[in-house]
Amino acid sequence: MTNRHFCKPRHLILTSTLALQLLAIPAANAAENIEPNLNADEQALVDWLPPREQEMVELLEQLTITNSGSMNKAGVGEIAEFFSAELRQLGFGVTTLPGERIDMPSCPGSDYSIDVADHLLATKPGNGTRLLLMGHMDTVFPPFAPFQDFRRDGDTIYGPGVADMKGGLVVMLYALKALDEAGDLDDMAITVLLNSDEEIGSLSSRKFLEQQAREHDYGLVYESTGTDTLVRERKGLGQARFVVNGVASHAGGAHEQGRSAIKELAYKIVEIENMTDYETGLTVNVGVVSGGEARNTIAPCAEAFVDLRYPTPEHGEQARQQFESIFSQVYSYPVDSGELSTDSWVNLHRPPKIATAKSDYLLEKTRSIGRLLGQELGVTDSGGGTDGSLTQAVGLPTLDSLGIAGTGAHSNREQARLSSLVERAQLSAVLIRRLSQE
Ligand SMILES: [Zn+2]
Repeated sequence: MTNRHFCKPRHLILTSTLALQLLAIPAANAAENIEPNLNADEQALVDWLPPREQEMVELLEQLTITNSGSMNKAGVGEIAEFFSAELRQLGFGVTTLPGERIDMPSCPGSDYSIDVADHLLATKPGNGTRLLLMGHMDTVFPPFAPFQDFRRDGDTIYGPGVADMKGGLVVMLYALKALDEAGDLDDMAITVLLNSDEEIGSLSSRKFLEQQAREHDYGLVYESTGTDTLVRERKGLGQARFVVNGVASHAGGAHEQGRSAIKELAYKIVEIENMTDYETGLTVNVGVVSGGEARNTIAPCAEAFVDLRYPTPEHGEQARQQFESIFSQVYSYPVDSGELSTDSWVNLHRPPKIATAKSDYLLEKTRSIGRLLGQELGVTDSGGGTDGSLTQAVGLPTLDSLGIAGTGAHSNREQARLSSLVERAQLSAVLIRRLSQE
C-alpha cells in the first residue's frame, strides 16, 4: 500500500504547517514525526520494487543455501564475491578488509581459536550526507548443522539466515538498485561495509566499523525488523573464556595427589552465575563447558565459555573486574597449593546502544516514512547486540533493524515474511534518498 497524496494542493500543506505552529507543538516533534508525502521521484522508486519480488526471493534462496557459518571461510567468501560484483555494477569501488586469527585459551585438543574471513568495504564518493550501510555475511549455522534448506510456504520463508540477515542483505541491495535505476545513486556518498564475523562478536571487524563510523553521518544496519518493529536501545554484550589447569592423577590409586580442574571450574561457575541481577539487567550465562580426560582420571583441564549482557558501560566494566577476580582465585583446594591455575580471555565486544536525540530522530523519521508507505513499525528495546551498537557508541547515529521482518533467528525455526522484502526495500530507498538530501 502506498500513499499517493504527493500532489496535495499547496495551500493545504501551508494550512497544516500553520496549524502546527498555532498548536505550539514543539519544533523537534514536528520535525521528527511529520515527513512530507512522497514526491513523484520517490513514488517511482517505490513502484520499481514490487515487480522485482520474485527476483529478490530467488536471490535470497541462493544466498541461504550457500552456507556461510562464521567459521566457513569459503562460504563467507562466496557471499562476499557475489556482493562485490553487484556493488561494482552499481558504481562502488570495492576493497577487501583483512580478517585475522583470534587466539583464545583452550584445553589441549579443543582449539578454540577463530580464523575470521575477510570483510568487504564498498565506497562511492558523492555529495551530501555520508551514509554507512552495514550488514553481516556470516550466520550462526556451520556447514554440518542440520538446518540448511530454503523453503517457502505462502508468505513465509524458512531457512538458516533468512532473517539474520541474508534477507536484510537483499533488502539493502535492492534499495540501492532502485536508487541506481532512478539515477539517484550517482551523486550519493554511500559506504557499504559487510563483515564476516558479526555472529562471533565482530572481533576482527570492530576496528573497521568504528573507523568508518567516525567518517559518516548516519549508520543503517540491515538486521531483521522482527515483527515489524524497530529497535531503539540494546544491552551491551561481553564474552569470557576461561581454562582451568589442574593436576591429573589416578582417581583410585592417588586421588589426593590430583587437583581437579572440573571441581574448580564448578566453583567458578557458581560464582559467575551468581553475578546475574535481573533488577539491574545484568545477566551471565555459562553456555558451554567441557573438560576431563577419563572417568577414572582427576581432570587436568576444564574450560567454559560465558556470555554477558549489561545495561551500562559501568556495569560492563564492573563485570569484567568480577570475572578477573573469580579467575584469579582458587575456591576448591587450599590456595597455597599453587597447582591450579586459570587462563582467561574477556572481551566486552558490544557496548550498550543508548539512544541519543539524533538516533531517535533517525528512528522516528524512518517510522514516519513507513507510515507514508502503509507500514506501521513499532519500537522496542532488545537484549541482543548488533554492529549498530559499536557505531553508535563512537558517535554515529545508527538504526540497526532495517532488514526483512522475521523471527526465530539462531534456531531451526528461523523464518521471515516474504512480502516484507519489497516493503523494507521501499522503506530504505526513500529513507536513503531523504537522508542524502539533508
Ligand atoms: Zn544478525
